[in-house]
Amino acid sequence: PMLASVVHQENVVALTKAPMTQTLNKKMKSVSTIAYIGLGSNLSQPIKQVQSAISEIEKIAQSNIVNVSSLYLSKPMGPQDQDDYINAVLAIETTLTPLELLDALQDIENKAGRVRKENRWGARILDLDIILFGNEIINSERLIVPHYGMKEREFVLLPLAEIAANLILPSPKVTDRKSVKLLSQNIANNSIVKLPLN
Ligand code: ATP
Ligand code: MG
Ligand code: MG
Repeated sequence: PMLASVVHQENVVALTKAPMTQTLNKKMKSVSTIAYIGLGSNLSQPIKQVQSAISEIEKIAQSNIVNVSSLYLSKPMGPQDQDDYINAVLAIETTLTPLELLDALQDIENKAGRVRKENRWGARILDLDIILFGNEIINSERLIVPHYGMKEREFVLLPLAEIAANLILPSPKVTDRKSVKLLSQNIANNSIVKLPLN
């Protein structure tokens, strides 16, 4: 009788387990993704801003930083009446969805005191952009991935090439699936310098 009851209990568990696992998977992806985040700042001690942003990103739930580039000093894009930028790119392993990751990054931008202004590409205390999210191609209202400007921006491509040169950009068009290394070699690369490690 003991044995029979154990078998019976196991059957009950087996029957109830499948639907429960399905419900869990809907709420939380079980597979992790490597995402690349571009960091930028040109206000209020930009090196410190980028460094403290990295510490904040480290605290994001369900995520771990797996690689960080050097810091780079770059000329501003767009309006030139603003200070130079500090940029970096990091890789994060995450089980968050892309929008959950964007929410977490925007929280960090807001906590750093980012004020959103009308004029694009103006001075900012902290900018955290999702450059890539695994091989996903996303075109939603809040999120475009791969980041729409990454192929033209040296302050994205150079730090990214430092930590992920062999990465191939996802694209529906086969001929657009270029490596980060190739893209970084094909840009001007004249208004950016890599800062020495300290
Ligand atoms: P740019 O997009 O040219 O780098 P920016 O980073 O200064 O400019 P923000 O003001 O930081 O622009 O963001 C504006 C909006 O862009 C955000 O509210 C966000 O919803 C949207 N967005 C779209 N794609 C992305 C992405 N890949 N990473 C971050 N934000 C994105
Ligand atoms: Mg940006
Ligand atoms: Mg941004």
